[in-house]
Amino acid sequence: MTATGDLILVLDAGTTSTRAMVLAADGRMLAVAQQELTQYYPQPGWVEHDAAEIWERTLACAREAVGQVGGAGRIAGIGITNQRETVVAWDRASGQPLHRALVWQDRRTADFCAGLKNAGQEPVVQAATGLLLDPYFSATKMRWLVDHVPDVAAAAQRGQLALGTVEDWLVHQLTGGAHVTDASNASRTLLLALDGGSWDEGLCDLFGVPRAALGDVVDNAGHFGTSRAEWLGRAIPITGLAGDQQSATVGQGCLAPGQTKATYGTGAFVLANMGSALPRSGHRLLGTVLCQLDGQRQYALEGSVFVAGSLIKWLRDSLGVIASAAESEALARSVEDSGGVTIVPALSGLGAPHWRPEARGVITGMSFASSRAHFARAALEAMAMQTADLAHAFAADGAQWQTLRIDGGMSANDWMAQDLADVLQVPVERPDFVETTALGAAMLAGVGTGLFGSLDEAARAMRGQVRTFAPGTPPGEERRAAWERALAST
Ligand code: ADP
Repeated sequence: MTATGDLILVLDAGTTSTRAMVLAADGRMLAVAQQELTQYYPQPGWVEHDAAEIWERTLACAREAVGQVGGAGRIAGIGITNQRETVVAWDRASGQPLHRALVWQDRRTADFCAGLKNAGQEPVVQAATGLLLDPYFSATKMRWLVDHVPDVAAAAQRGQLALGTVEDWLVHQLTGGAHVTDASNASRTLLLALDGGSWDEGLCDLFGVPRAALGDVVDNAGHFGTSRAEWLGRAIPITGLAGDQQSATVGQGCLAPGQTKATYGTGAFVLANMGSALPRSGHRLLGTVLCQLDGQRQYALEGSVFVAGSLIKWLRDSLGVIASAAESEALARSVEDSGGVTIVPALSGLGAPHWRPEARGVITGMSFASSRAHFARAALEAMAMQTADLAHAFAADGAQWQTLRIDGGMSANDWMAQDLADVLQVPVERPDFVETTALGAAMLAGVGTGLFGSLDEAARAMRGQVRTFAPGTPPGEERRAAWERALAST
């Protein structure tokens, strides 16, 4: 379809906050509004959001951002990107949530997952979905809602239950009824067959999720409904949808096989474009849909590390070793090495490629000469070491990195960026505009509105300059040896 404006409104419904941004077709960000989200922790290991609050705050941000550019007159389309795997249950008739959303971090279904694993189901599930049997993914959360919330079970009985991820919920609210989920988000549920098509009936049966409650699986760019005029002053088509990590991969311009990005925020998420080849990991990485256009899927191999920037935050807030996150850089530069200190930041277990939830962090090699500068340096060095472990797993699965494109709040640290290049021995590229998640959603929405003919065209128009950190002398072998020893003791 042809656009009736030249701007894109991006809604980024994240875990801790929700944001709205207006981007121009040349990639400039013209407006931004942000609100925090309330986190509910009803029991240890349980994490919930109020779905009504997600909608209300996202709408408030959208109104504020649209107001900053003088109204919705020039908005051609809406792109939505979101925290993945989080599940909302709502009533199709009333449009009201039936329970708080179960957030991706929620571990309440760990026993159910363990039961399926013990029954030998993991290889079957991994072959079909590219994922592992872990409470992280949506399916067991959906099952929990049906089993434990009488209103959810009753809505299912009446044929009025809707189960969906956060982009689906927002599309439903914006349009007043649509129930669609894009292939990138759907590929995080454990219910989508990775090799094509829609929901897998066998997987719905295995996890006990009513197939009728799920939305239609759609492309990442297209026309997914129109927001009601009352919300933003004008009816606007919704033309782009993607899970946050896939959106960042698109925003980093990783559009060809082999191109890889790493986002360093609270945790670190690495995704490598695998083209149209179905990713099969023998090293406990995840296979996921990167993007679906005109029904054709491009895939990604994904590795997530649980602790990245949160280690720096912990050094600052819990130990008081540093005054600010940015100070870690000056401290790391002030010493020649970590003075023998090694930190393995397994503070909440180890993610890919280890998947050891029971592991806990260790600090080794301390002496009376150890200073806070050595701790800061060891903390930053741990980022490159964790990433190198992922790089080996990716290479073993056939995805050798030629360069690594980085983003996220922690990527502002130049010392860390250079250390990554030195350790990985590949160029590390950081875009000047680090809002890659929003940029990816804007690129997809721009393709959906017809502003751009393809994602390549959108990338050429919207992506700005990058700074490259060239690989220098690799660190000595003793650093890797110390890391391996410390890792073995977690
Ligand atoms: P998220 O999106 O996961 O909330 P962000 O992408 O905003 O996270 O990144 C914030 C994280 O990055 C924080 O955990 C913070 O400790 C870390 N961080 C921010 N700036 C720096 C810096 N200059 N050096 C090291 N870590 C940093």
